[in-house]
Amino acid sequence: MEAIFTADGHCDTMLRIMNDPEYDFFSENKNGHLDLPRLQKGGVGLQVMALFVESKFKPFQALPRTLEMAGAFHGLIDSNRENLSLITSREELNNLGKNPGKTGLLLALEGGEALCSTLSLYSFFKLGLRLVTLTWNQRNQLADGVGETCTGGGLTRLGREIVGEMNRLGIGVDVSHLSEKSFWDVAQVCEKPLIASHSNAFSVCNHPRNLKDEQITAIVESGGIIGINFSSYFLNGTKGSSIEDVLNHIDYIIEGWGFDFVGMGSDFDGIGFTPVELKDVTRFPVLARELITRYGKSNAEKIMGANWLMVLDKILPSS
Ligand SMILES: [Zn+2]
Repeated sequence: MEAIFTADGHCDTMLRIMNDPEYDFFSENKNGHLDLPRLQKGGVGLQVMALFVESKFKPFQALPRTLEMAGAFHGLIDSNRENLSLITSREELNNLGKNPGKTGLLLALEGGEALCSTLSLYSFFKLGLRLVTLTWNQRNQLADGVGETCTGGGLTRLGREIVGEMNRLGIGVDVSHLSEKSFWDVAQVCEKPLIASHSNAFSVCNHPRNLKDEQITAIVESGGIIGINFSSYFLNGTKGSSIEDVLNHIDYIIEGWGFDFVGMGSDFDGIGFTPVELKDVTRFPVLARELITRYGKSNAEKIMGANWLMVLDKILPSS
């Protein structure tokens, strides 16, 4: 079967690249959820690569650590331009999929600890940064994350400035991991589509990392996207899950809000327990097949990749 163009909105593979000496991105590995050969097998034409800074570096070593990780990210692309390309503009986005076997990588930051001002954001923009998850679970200088519930804090003054500058430059605003108060603050000030790169539906699985119906509506009304997270905990609240759990979240969003606002946000290499049928990126075609059966080819194409391209086209700058 011809692979459907797939876009995945979140993975933590850069963390593996930094920390796992057994792992080589350019070979097929036994450990980890993805590498170049497996991205190609899975038909992944666009992979968002997040820079996630481990807690031990926060807050004071977050900037040097983020710069190291950005260096490692660019090193990957520079060492294999035949198979990899950096996606920073609408034009580069539109060229995706024309060259099968070539994967576009989009640079993201998971947690804004390294962003101390709009000028430092501009430096990262020049390094190719095109998506920022404002917080991880804890509080930072931009906003409160979902784990910081007792004070009810939202988006800070700096956070508002940074979101405004992200809108102006063409960097996506990612609301996954935000506290509810932060989410609603961002929804109020953000002028571009809202992205929840790796979150599921709370009504299907009541995990605090998932999105309430009103939050899904706000994302849909902004023209944004929800990337479905493959963590078993966010799918059904347990360690064990199946492809049916993924389909339940997709079905729920489609039934309530249509076909245009849901995509992939696997969280591969950032999660311990995946659905049994979706153990790594090579299994995306298994999900695509299920979606074709349920919803037909053109809707399956939207969910597997085209919706991500559509939303990024509304956000990224022209080159
Ligand atoms: Zn995450």
